[in-house]
Amino acid sequence: MTTEKPSLKILLAAPRGFCAGVDRAIQIVQVALQKFGTPVYVRHEIVHNKFVVDSLKKKGAIFVDELDQVPAGAPVVFSAHGVPKSVPVDAQNRKMIAIDATCPLVSKVHRDAERHHAEGRHVILIGHKGHPEVIGTMGQIPAGTITLIEKIEDISSLNFDKHVSLAYCTQTTLSIEDTAQMIEALKFRYPHIIGPSKQDICYATTNRQNAVQKIASAVDVIFVLGAPNSSNSRRLVEAAKQNGCVRAFLIERATDIDWSVFDDISSVGITAGASAPEVLVEEVVFALQERFDVTVENVEATTENIAFNLPLILREEQVA
Ligand code: SF4
Repeated sequence: MTTEKPSLKILLAAPRGFCAGVDRAIQIVQVALQKFGTPVYVRHEIVHNKFVVDSLKKKGAIFVDELDQVPAGAPVVFSAHGVPKSVPVDAQNRKMIAIDATCPLVSKVHRDAERHHAEGRHVILIGHKGHPEVIGTMGQIPAGTITLIEKIEDISSLNFDKHVSLAYCTQTTLSIEDTAQMIEALKFRYPHIIGPSKQDICYATTNRQNAVQKIASAVDVIFVLGAPNSSNSRRLVEAAKQNGCVRAFLIERATDIDWSVFDDISSVGITAGASAPEVLVEEVVFALQERFDVTVENVEATTENIAFNLPLILREEQVA
């Protein structure tokens, strides 16, 4: 006797998953392994995804918290989130082969912070305290010349004199809406503050938030594939909730699905943060197919065709 499976409509938000910066960072570790052999050291998670980190470990990468865990002369990769200026200096002093996998869009924020500092402006950084990207950006200019704010309420506690030149930068993976509000409030308080023409929120964060917004009101539940410490993945959950799908969940693997949420639903949306590989989305679709009679639709908000070059040290023409 066969039991009919209940029907379920799956909407896949597109774009989703890997961005150009994450793709490049993973490729950097892989090419470094080919060029230098094993092991290649990686300072911090190359990107915020356990599946990615574990697969690179299997290929011979060793992940460390700090450079004192890396032997002198060894190759060491800095993660996509960027590092404070002191880290490459430390690596050079320890005679390591430093390979920078900082996303070029994060590097752009670093250069902006440096330029503002060189031109005499105090920098206000909008971001999340403790996130590696924020630590990296704050470490581009001397302590005391950059101030972190996390939420709109923090603006009222700023007490810069109106004659102090100010500029703002933002973390690349923030909520588009919340950040726009914070910038508006900053400009209201300090009309002379300057910043990027839009925000520093990157194309991938923007596109993934727009894509999940597009499906949010059309589905009963949304699963966001991503790590709990992935800022852009957490913002996708918030964007889904703010745009009509209150049952939005961050999951790392299909095994994290709480099947009780399926009691009364007929449609599910799926997306993935910029550091989550597509194979994890496929794993969730497969798990749903085992329990439901599914139809799958890819809902494309926009197309992406961005790719970044590898750092010079790893480009083919540089390989001896
Ligand atoms: Fe670069 Fe944006 Fe990807 Fe971060 S999310 S690695 S800033 S493209």
